[in-house]
Amino acid sequence: SETKTEPMRVLVTGGSGLVGKAIEHMVKQEGGCLEGEQWTFLCSKEANLVDLQQTRAVFEKYRPTHVIHLAAKVGGLYLHMKENLNFLRDNLRINDNVLQTSHEMGVTKVVSCLSSCIFPDKTTYPIDESMIHNGPPHDSNFGYSHAKRMIDIQNRGYFEQHKHRYTAVIPTNVYGPYDNFNFENGHVLSALMHKTYAAKKEGTPLQVWGSGTPRRQFIYSLDVARLFLWVLREYDEIDPIILSGESNMVVVCVGGWSVNECVCVCVCVCFDTSKSDGQIKKTASNAKLRRYLPDFTFTPLSEGIKKTCDWFVNNYDIART
Ligand code: NDP
Repeated sequence: SETKTEPMRVLVTGGSGLVGKAIEHMVKQEGGCLEGEQWTFLCSKEANLVDLQQTRAVFEKYRPTHVIHLAAKVGGLYLHMKENLNFLRDNLRINDNVLQTSHEMGVTKVVSCLSSCIFPDKTTYPIDESMIHNGPPHDSNFGYSHAKRMIDIQNRGYFEQHKHRYTAVIPTNVYGPYDNFNFENGHVLSALMHKTYAAKKEGTPLQVWGSGTPRRQFIYSLDVARLFLWVLREYDEIDPIILSGESNMVVVCVGGWSVNECVCVCVCVCFDTSKSDGQIKKTASNAKLRRYLPDFTFTPLSEGIKKTCDWFVNNYDIART
């Protein structure tokens, strides 16, 4: 008999965040949605996924065949250091509720989102996918990191016991429209854009927290979105895959991005070294991604920053500041 595959019904948890909005853009405006597919983008108002009943109810409502799981209690470095226990407990619950409900309702595939900050603090570089569990993560966000690591463990369990293909991606630092631009809780690049914007507007010095020496890799949110769609449709492994470009590593905070590449601000920069730096570097290897997608083109950092700055300035009223 002829077996007909049903078009996917995709539920995106965390659909209102930085990555969720980028996926929504790809799906709704860049032709990322195939005929017959249904895509639903959730926010916490529709279902608080810390709560099992609400999680079940929203899965009953949309009956997804596929899930992109982005929802997480997410914060900047300083909030993590203040609230490690809350980050651990909320994220453990959110992840277990989403994965177990997916299992109970027969979801075919789940793609969850880990983070490069979950890698061991003491490690050799570049870090790759095989090294996630080789030692404790950095102290500053141990709660969030351990909860994320458990997703990988759980994915292995669902495959071994139930043959489910639940997997995860590991993006490096994501930036783009709809990011959190808050000075204290925002991500580093977006918080810096906002600080630069404010310093320029008020003619005050640009106050940068930390020493300016840590190095990070950045990936533009629309690139993450394109890769998510590829993982959902094509990637068949349970083991996670790092999403990162090659050479977009910048010295954070020296103002290289702002002075040379972005807005040409004429402000004087001072570093507050009483504030923590976090890890000094955490270079992740994209060799596995390159084996699958040798020709994928990443948005250059200067172009991504320009687009994000433009979005921020034009959407200041709705931006998370
Ligand atoms: P955002 O902070 O921009 O968005 C978080 C999303 O999670 C929002 O949609 C939010 O909903 C939702 N959410 C939070 N708490 C709950 C809850 N209790 N119930 C339901 N939904 C909830 O995050 P990002 O888009 O930046 O991150 C998406 C994923 O990618 C996360 O898992 C994150 O850990 C991971 N990641 C992010 C990186 C980055 O640099 N941004 C790097 C690596 C990984 P609402 O808007 O309603 O609050």
